[in-house]
Amino acid sequence: MLLTITTTHRPATDLGYLLHKNPARLHSRRQSYGVAHVFYPEAGDDRCTAALFVEVDPVGLVRDRKGFSATAGLMDQYVNDRPYAASSLLSAAMADTFGSAMGGRSADRPELVEIPIPLEFTLPALPCRGGESLLRALFEPLGYHVDARQLSLDDRFPSWGASQYFSVALKTTSTLHLALTHLYVLIPVLDNTKHYWVDEDEVEKLLAKGEPWLSTHPQRDLIVRRYLKHRRSLADLAIDRLVESDGSAIDDAGAADGTETVRGDEQEQRLERGMSLNERRMESVAGVVEALRASSVIDLGCGEGRLLKQLLPMKGVSRVTGMDVSHRSLQVARERLNLERMSKMLQDKLTLLHGSLVYRDARFNGYDVATVVEVIEHLDESRLGIFTRVVFEFARPKAVVVTTPNSEYNAKFPSLPAGRFRHPDHRFEWTRAQFEEWAQQQAHRFGYAVRFESIGDADPTLGAPTQMAVFTNQQ
Ligand code: SAH
Repeated sequence: MLLTITTTHRPATDLGYLLHKNPARLHSRRQSYGVAHVFYPEAGDDRCTAALFVEVDPVGLVRDRKGFSATAGLMDQYVNDRPYAASSLLSAAMADTFGSAMGGRSADRPELVEIPIPLEFTLPALPCRGGESLLRALFEPLGYHVDARQLSLDDRFPSWGASQYFSVALKTTSTLHLALTHLYVLIPVLDNTKHYWVDEDEVEKLLAKGEPWLSTHPQRDLIVRRYLKHRRSLADLAIDRLVESDGSAIDDAGAADGTETVRGDEQEQRLERGMSLNERRMESVAGVVEALRASSVIDLGCGEGRLLKQLLPMKGVSRVTGMDVSHRSLQVARERLNLERMSKMLQDKLTLLHGSLVYRDARFNGYDVATVVEVIEHLDESRLGIFTRVVFEFARPKAVVVTTPNSEYNAKFPSLPAGRFRHPDHRFEWTRAQFEEWAQQQAHRFGYAVRFESIGDADPTLGAPTQMAVFTNQQ
């Protein structure tokens, strides 16, 4: 089983830093399913290729029945495509050997991680159940150029016809960590099977790896269903959570299932909840901006630009800036706002910045209002101190609007197991008392007044799903 990763980024050997694997060495690790080797067939300044070669041990897999789904006959257990075809075992090997790279960590070159680089992946035997059209429908919306050649069943017997295996080359310009998550999720989706039992943990894996691209993927529901081995309750749970994290995906959620007109009550409520929460959050924040009579706004952690879309047409607002640490989100924001086709006037009004909330940055200075919508819970609690200095001490806008989930309300999400966060990237979620205490302290420390509002339908005891603090500068 083979996957190659090639870059022509210069110097191309940077690939070694991104993969945490020195190009000069052979790296071999024994896993439960066999041995995974990583080596570099070429490593020059102009072009560098890493190969992940997995020697699957089919006999070992049978011995360890736990990691292996029931099969039809005895023969099938020993004679099958597992040794050579890309499958969930390849995804498992990717997670084992490229775990840090996939998580976007590079010990020696952290600055490389977020840089999109030219990448080419080859998979000499990729099972595509659903054919070339599905292969394209999965990768092309993510910005890949797909080259695929269907392999014959046996070259010596042309009359047997074609197999379901393809030799595939995928080209893109992307950060490596994002591209690895695409492959990790989509290889088993194409194979349409998994070599192990799937449970709730698999939903967590999918959500963690599928962020930030899955919620808006046109084939989202098919990907979720196949990834979770068609276990409907798990698929519903995953889609539910994706919808909650991305209001814009709502419009087609019912249609994709063909259940637009005969939606069950539960599904309707689910859709409505996702829709109203996201939309109401944006409306509430835009309402505060309006009431403050702000003429310039910076949206810190703007994500895919949902709030920017509301702010841009507002009459009194003459300057709107969106900032995010994720290149990919900014790219999506640019596309969703249709920046290239906007009137010159709106284009002049808008600026998109790549930056981070945990570094002091003079570009954040001089705004009437800074908004920080559903962002603080993505920061490690240990970084909140520097975040508040960056915003309240250095940027020092006249007002700051912060929203975050109210963790008490999580009890109302039936699909969310107790103690879990609403989103896998959340580092914490606070009760109303915790948020209010934190906000009061910051207000006191930096000379702001603060008031609180809730967003979404409130439960009499648990409160509303989202909480908002509005800070106004007193000096
Ligand atoms: N405000 C948007 C997005 C919320 S998701 C909305 O409500 O739709 C959280 C966003 O915070 C993501 O886009 C993520 O990339 C961004 N983010 C996380 N850490 C950040 C940091 N250190 N600096 C800037 N943005 C950050």
